[in-house]
Amino acid sequence: MLNKYTCLKKLAARRSDEIIITNMGIAKPWENLSDGPFDFASVDSGMGHAADLAHGLAIAQPHHRIITLNGDGSMLMCLGTLVTIAQRPVNNYVLIIIENGTYEITGNQFVPGAGKINYETIARGAGIDEVYTIYDDSDFDAKFALIFEGEGPLVFVWKVAQANEPVPNFQLPLWERAHRLRKNLNENTN
Ligand SMILES: [Mg+2]
Repeated sequence: MLNKYTCLKKLAARRSDEIIITNMGIAKPWENLSDGPFDFASVDSGMGHAADLAHGLAIAQPHHRIITLNGDGSMLMCLGTLVTIAQRPVNNYVLIIIENGTYEITGNQFVPGAGKINYETIARGAGIDEVYTIYDDSDFDAKFALIFEGEGPLVFVWKVAQANEPVPNFQLPLWERAHRLRKNLNENTN
């Protein structure tokens, strides 16, 4: 079992100009590590739509690698996105499903299928070939470089322990966060 904070710290240490899209229980821990020009927390009314927002960005921004940190509860709300990712594959797209088996920020209620669902099987069934389930730190370290260097679309399933993340609350409202990302993408697009 992984610790999500340990994983996020490793990701933040390696990350440079990749766009990181976060959602729900990952948004605040990631903001604590990184809140820069290429970070965007797709929260407020965005539950379930980080993976598809990121897919659109990956299509529109081929010179940027897009890494999405999506919870399992959020992923369950947009399973069809996996089919879309396979249908319109882009090599700069990375989706990380952070599986703790619960809706963490509302009190760790079990998600449907907790303990039974297999996200790797679902992603492969959707037509995505590069899918890796990561169970522990040694798996994580062995596959870590692929997040930054592998040819997408890539899907990772991080098996993480439950934590106690509160409801995310941001200094900048959603529209300002969206404006910041758009502005920085426009400045860095050639
Ligand atoms: Mg969860």
